[in-house]
Amino acid sequence: MHVNSKMPLKVAAFLAGLFIVVLFHVMDRSVSRHPALIIFYVIPVSLVTWFSGTIAGVFIALCSIMAWISHGTLEVRNLYSNSFLFGINMTARGSFLFVVIYVLRKLKIALAHEKELNQRKSDFVANVSHELNNPLAVIRESMNLVIDGSVGEVNKQQKEVLEAGVRGAERLIRLVKDLLDISKIEAGKLELKIDEVDIALLVESVLKDNESEIFNKGLGLKKDILQDAGLILADRDKIIEVITNLLHNAVKYTSSGIITVRLSGDKESIHFEIADTGPGIPREYQQKIFDKFERVTAEKTEGTGLGLPITKDIIELHKGKIRVDSAAGNGSKFIITLPRDFKKAK
Ligand code: ADP
Repeated sequence: MHVNSKMPLKVAAFLAGLFIVVLFHVMDRSVSRHPALIIFYVIPVSLVTWFSGTIAGVFIALCSIMAWISHGTLEVRNLYSNSFLFGINMTARGSFLFVVIYVLRKLKIALAHEKELNQRKSDFVANVSHELNNPLAVIRESMNLVIDGSVGEVNKQQKEVLEAGVRGAERLIRLVKDLLDISKIEAGKLELKIDEVDIALLVESVLKDNESEIFNKGLGLKKDILQDAGLILADRDKIIEVITNLLHNAVKYTSSGIITVRLSGDKESIHFEIADTGPGIPREYQQKIFDKFERVTAEKTEGTGLGLPITKDIIELHKGKIRVDSAAGNGSKFIITLPRDFKKAK
């Protein structure tokens, strides 16, 4: 049997709304000489309209009007001795509640519409990125074959032109991959493949894979890695992506000096830091850089402005935290804390 998972919420909201109306009514009858202010009845009517639907909301509004009528006629008859005025009064109160129901209904429809539009946008970006990925990889590999001389000899000048083409294709492949990642995260479709990860081994292997990039730029590398930092439960590939993103940024934005990588851990969590001697990030931009497409100190460097938002999303999916400690002209330090077992973390 198909059970609607929202059913208990709908019923609970309806019963709560009804209970509040009865409560106000009893209070009116026993303590006060005046019917409760209309604003009080807006609470149960809104609650029920939002969670249980329009018909249920109208029912609660009618109950509220009945409560007023019975109170008005029984207890404060002198206030409403003129039945015309009494009728107008009740109509005005009733209309107010129906306006509240109408506005809430419109608001709910608008929100649902916006959610659907966002979902479609994410699906579109995900599909287009996916479709672009394969032909781009084919273009890059074909050009590499020509550069290698596998399909005939190429001279130095032709090689240089083709290499520029490969760099362009690689740039596009990175952009497409970032767009795919961000659209999956936004659509809540990024599933973590959880594994037991030896975090010190993983950090060391990412550093090894990227060492040449650091040294080719003439930068130094300082490592302070606690070798028995232990295990964490995490998606290995995603954590590699995070460390690689931060390392690439450190190299990309630093023209001289050293990159320092630190790893430490305690019983509950591990702490990872990557610091550079680059231009730093002015304080007013330090939150912005985690937003999509925000590029602050990057006019002359290639990039998409998607690396840090993806990094932050991955860390948050693991219930961790990332922050930056930097000042203009003084280098940047990105600091990550990850719980050892994100399923148990709050
Ligand atoms: P991208 O590097 O592709 O522009 P990111 O999302 O990785 O995008 O970074 C966003 C912005 O944050 C960068 O454009 C840059 O302005 C700034 N930034 C990131 N890392 C550093 C760093 N290590 N040093 C200085 N600025 C940085």
